[in-house]
Amino acid sequence: VEKRLAGKPVVEALKAELKERISTLKLNGKNPTLCIVRVGNREDDISYERSIIKNGELLGVKVIIRALSNNISMDLLSKEMTSLNKDDSIHGIMIFRPLPDQLDVNIISKIIDPKKDVDGMSPINLEKIFEGDKSGYAPCTAKAVVEMLKFYKIPLSGANITVVGRSMVVGKPLSMLLLNDNATVTICHSRTKDIPEITQKSDVVVAAVGRAKFLGRQHFNDKSIVIDVGINDAGDGKMCGDVDYEGVFDMVSAISPALGGIGSITTTVLFDHTVDACEKVE
Ligand code: NAP
Repeated sequence: VEKRLAGKPVVEALKAELKERISTLKLNGKNPTLCIVRVGNREDDISYERSIIKNGELLGVKVIIRALSNNISMDLLSKEMTSLNKDDSIHGIMIFRPLPDQLDVNIISKIIDPKKDVDGMSPINLEKIFEGDKSGYAPCTAKAVVEMLKFYKIPLSGANITVVGRSMVVGKPLSMLLLNDNATVTICHSRTKDIPEITQKSDVVVAAVGRAKFLGRQHFNDKSIVIDVGINDAGDGKMCGDVDYEGVFDMVSAISPALGGIGSITTTVLFDHTVDACEKVE
């Protein structure tokens, strides 16, 4: 295993396979299409959106943007989602989260057609992840972690893997995906007593905490394989992960960087799910 677990080779491998599937679809007169729903103008969303548009162009997946007002009502957003569900030219729908306060993400997640729910927010898809039914779409970031571990041939079966974080977007679904691959999974969160004690004994540690450089040398040993999902503001205008990358690099076995790591794979997983959704249309 390489020491720096870069996202790029993972993305290249996924894209090579995706391109073939996309050309097959196009030969059959199908045009895979992803619709991004953006409420408001958050800088993070807009930069993620730009990267999705660029990658869509490179791959040959059509990307449509539905930009909605920040103060849109629940009723109007529900109608918008319902009309996207009905639109046969759209195969995948992704809505940026978090949503503004007047909107209830739990209601939206129940409205979105599970067959188009390419970022795994629908309870139908989450239930499939829970059951180990591979036809369900997992949230893209959680899936990106599994893609990285598999690309670098890091054994999952029987491995002790600790996931720090239990959000519905990353930690929880990821823990289920790893369990489905026969890992022994420990989930840590804000009430966990002694996180270093647990992570030190793990073969793989995944950090999805949302706190800059939260994990450091005390959490690892020389065999640790570390996957950093975090994207945080380091305070100096730069971004950093949930792990102190520079601080631990020399002591661990392998580690993914915050930039050019998991985040770079997430978009490709989104297209993989969209292409899959398009392939499944009769
Ligand atoms: P989140 O919803 O804020 O969840 C954070 C989790 O970390 C919670 O389960 C929380 O525990 C736990 N936590 C917080 N403080 C802790 C502490 N002091 N000790 C132990 N656990 C603690 O965040 P998220 O959406 O899962 O995102 C996690 C990170 O991944 C963020 O940095 C985010 O920016 C990044 N992210 C990256 C991508 C990507 O594509 N690379 C995508 C999504 C998110 P409780 O449940 O007990 O509160």
